[in-house]
Amino acid sequence: MNPKDAAVQNNPDTTLVTQTAPIATATHGGRAKCLQRLVRLELPVPRTVALSFSTVEAIASGDLPDVDHIVDQFPTDALLCVRPSSQDPDWGGPGAVLNIGMNDARFEMFSNTMGEEAAAAIYTRFIQSYAINVVRLDPDMFDEVEGEGKVALDETIAAYEQETEEKFPQSRRTQLRAVLLSMARAWNGTSARLLRQAKGAPADAGLGLVVQQMVFGLGAGHCGSGVLQLVNSDTGAPQVTGRYLSQSQGRDALEGGSGSMFLTSDPRGPALEDVLPEAFETLKDHATLMRRRLRAEMVMEFAIEDGAVHILDGMRVSRSSRAAVRIAVTLAQDGVISREEALMRVQPGLLTELLHRQIDATARRDVIGFGIAASPGAATGRLVFDSAEAQASAARGEACILVRRETSSEDVRGMHAANAVLTERGGITSHAAVIGRGIGLPCVVGASNIIFSQRDKTITAADGRVFREGDELTVDGSTGQILAGAAKMQEAALDDYFRTLMQWATDCADIKVRANADTPADARTARNFNAEGIGLCRTEHMFFDQGRLTVMREMIFADTSDGRRAVLERLLPMQREDFTQLFRIMKDQPVCIRLFDPPLHEFLPMDASGQRELAEALDLPRSDVTRRIEAMREYNPMLGLRGVRLGITVPEIYEMQARAIFEATVDAAAEGITVVPEIMIPLVSARREVELVQAAIEAVAAAVRLERGAPVEYRLGVMVETPRAALRAGEIAPYCSFLSFGTNDLTQMAYGLSRDDAGRFMSDYVRQGVFDEDPFHTLDHDGVGELLKLGAERGRLSQPGITLSVCGEHGGNPESIGFCRAAGFDYVSCSPFRVPVAILASAQLAIADKIS
Ligand code: PEP
Ligand code: MG
Repeated sequence: MNPKDAAVQNNPDTTLVTQTAPIATATHGGRAKCLQRLVRLELPVPRTVALSFSTVEAIASGDLPDVDHIVDQFPTDALLCVRPSSQDPDWGGPGAVLNIGMNDARFEMFSNTMGEEAAAAIYTRFIQSYAINVVRLDPDMFDEVEGEGKVALDETIAAYEQETEEKFPQSRRTQLRAVLLSMARAWNGTSARLLRQAKGAPADAGLGLVVQQMVFGLGAGHCGSGVLQLVNSDTGAPQVTGRYLSQSQGRDALEGGSGSMFLTSDPRGPALEDVLPEAFETLKDHATLMRRRLRAEMVMEFAIEDGAVHILDGMRVSRSSRAAVRIAVTLAQDGVISREEALMRVQPGLLTELLHRQIDATARRDVIGFGIAASPGAATGRLVFDSAEAQASAARGEACILVRRETSSEDVRGMHAANAVLTERGGITSHAAVIGRGIGLPCVVGASNIIFSQRDKTITAADGRVFREGDELTVDGSTGQILAGAAKMQEAALDDYFRTLMQWATDCADIKVRANADTPADARTARNFNAEGIGLCRTEHMFFDQGRLTVMREMIFADTSDGRRAVLERLLPMQREDFTQLFRIMKDQPVCIRLFDPPLHEFLPMDASGQRELAEALDLPRSDVTRRIEAMREYNPMLGLRGVRLGITVPEIYEMQARAIFEATVDAAAEGITVVPEIMIPLVSARREVELVQAAIEAVAAAVRLERGAPVEYRLGVMVETPRAALRAGEIAPYCSFLSFGTNDLTQMAYGLSRDDAGRFMSDYVRQGVFDEDPFHTLDHDGVGELLKLGAERGRLSQPGITLSVCGEHGGNPESIGFCRAAGFDYVSCSPFRVPVAILASAQLAIADKIS
């Protein structure tokens, strides 16, 4: 070992990067560690010294290490560069400073060896970068510098000396000290801190620095620099990508100047492959070795000096979500990493981007307002202000954005017809949000900085711009932004790589994932995404279909039980067909059907013209209709006569539904499909409710058995969505085969916070740290979670082996899935488009457990 090496080899503060030096990402940062890996691969990496986090922290407070020790590691004439090395490259860091050590004497020397032009370029660049980044002078001060070569250099020196009233420092040691000090202090600046914290860095994230010997991409012979990677960053497809610029340093080649070359032969212009074929092959070989041995797709920064290749740096290739999936799958298929590792490398949230159209990352955004990003994906369309208009628009083949104050069951058909939904009110589990996610419709809710006027059919942006019916807008449900006009889109990418990854995830996941699916289309999506059954079919949506709504209203207006039964008789065949279709699509997988849940008034028209039409259809005086509707109206529609309360006070609806389910089961059996339907009772709060509904359902089952001469099996369960049901799970469970926690309503009731109004102040609450997160989005482990645990524990105790699940929106949230898995739940159920995210998250939890 070179004696100079020994001086710093075992010095944890300033460590020469050798194959065996004590360098770790956690102490010296990702860049330093990566350089060491490249050294271990015996790649031509220039000599480098790594400074640890603690050293840099000490430097920031003025306590510098022995800079002579660092400088002594390098040949006397060598120029140096310093780059940041944070633990995670995404956390950024101060910009690199190149050519440290440049001074008048070296300028003379380099003028002789590489020519005055190149030497002047290096010196000029260094002085300017030093002035701006280290001495923190105003960049404008060099605006006057004109010309090139020596002329530009002289002007730069003059400008520097005039501004600082000092000569430009000539000692490499002095320059390096100043650079280290300024980079260490920049890391502690407020904006740098906020920026990295926004990317997930902890408050005490450290910065390492690497001091590296410069390789000149300038001078005599073939010299230049560039970057190279083996995949396309957008698609992840194999493709040698990058740029090379002759006579350049750093990342100049990427700046898109006229001289930069393609790497592989290209009809558009000169390429490194043609100009320097040997160097190109060497670079490709090095990149291939890096991919295999560092087990990742890397981008390498290189320099060519007099024809010889040097690798200055290596980083993970930046990638789109689509590329992330393809890269992970391909690395596993090539045997570079295991399938488990591939699964761990894709963030579940990224899949959401793949499943929906997105605004292209490079598109210009004319943002006019924002709300809560309630259902991902983006769409452009013309504004419409009611569901009928949305349907008319769809019939004309025109894309539209449905704008509502908030949506209700009445709007579901309009939502199906629209390309996106925007609402003034609402939160992450409001009606528009839940339906939007269910059908994969981009949706922004609670856009409180926009003024909505349903009457004038306008929305007014905070900057005063007014948009009317027919105007074009883009809704970005992934970010919550509303944009004026159309934006460039990127299509969903459900390619073979996505499917492969999902198959691997399904094989690893150990908590089942079902889908909340109400329609045949939802069920098909769910199956397509490997859902293991339907965990929640909200049957009320089925009654809003054309032809059914009027019958439903007739039923509501019938005065007697017999009258209601007679009307429901007409709905029965339709409802039976709904269930038969679901059973056919789901084949032999479980289907959990929730009995009717909403309050009846949701099915009645609230506007005058709707009430007039209804009076005509029912042949009743208009005043009768209006009076009955008024009487039925509930001010808080969540907590009145709905769910099981309706099932007990108006039993005919549940009886009709139970009959439809059983008859569909018998029909499906005749087609060779074995289903044991799961029937779920919503909004239970007392044992007696379950007892009554169970008796009614069993009576229907017995009748169907007798009538059809066929066995009818079913599983009865309770939706635990009131705090009381969770607390009394011990006495409810003996009636049940399963308990499914409806965490949307449970959260609402545990907090006493309306899910439709939460959006109004949620961001304030999260910003001020009252809530860590929106509890409708991520399960509140402490409060709602405690109810879940209590309910599960008490339910299990009185009914061992009872199936436990979550079917609220939290079922699709990776963090909440972790909670359910740890609490021993059997499955989670979420919107069909969140199923892939949930499966990947549950696979990652299983793998993480296996590793630890
Ligand atoms: C719930 O309350 O968690 C639930 C799944 O039901 P809904 O969203 O239909 O009220
Ligand atoms: Mg509910």
